Amino acid sequence: MRILFFITLLLLSACKGSNQTVKEIELYNISGDRVGSATFMEQPKSVNITLKVEGLTPGFHGIHIHEFPKCEPPNFQSAGNHLNPDGKKHGLMHPKGAHLGDLPNVEADNSGNVDIELELPNATLLDGKESILQNEGSSLIITEKEDDGMSQPAGDSGARIICGELTEKSATESKEPPSDPTENNQEEDN
Ligand code: ZN
Repeated sequence: MRILFFITLLLLSACKGSNQTVKEIELYNISGDRVGSATFMEQPKSVNITLKVEGLTPGFHGIHIHEFPKCEPPNFQSAGNHLNPDGKKHGLMHPKGAHLGDLPNVEADNSGNVDIELELPNATLLDGKESILQNEGSSLIITEKEDDGMSQPAGDSGARIICGELTEKSATESKEPPSDPTENNQEEDN
């Protein structure tokens, strides 16, 4: 009886795990200093990104998911172009857009901090053409200037100033709730 109970618990935890795919990455500037983090969480038809960054110039900055998980300073060109598996044009306002990796601009406050949640529509952390973990993975890059949402190939958003690599090996966070005290009591009663 006790063994059956434990097996049930294990199965329940396994189910929770697969429903909550979460990846956390560190973000670095061109000097190699850690300046923030991004947490990617699988949603039914999108990927939610929680972004925390410091040290930006106040105002709007472009942010995009790029093709390769390679953040090599000083210019992060190693990350390739915006992730674009569907062969679309760049820009959230472009009639033939947008790249899968295009995100709305983020605004840094007067202290240069960003703390925001973003939504990457149609993307997934699971398998498939729209996966941001496809091939070796991808990267998240923040640019010097804001993305105008229209200019090719990258919205005239200036230099790449912050980068973080997203791969299968990126830290996977456990989002399971703290253990339920009633479950523990039942265990002891057995
Ligand atoms: Zn783009």
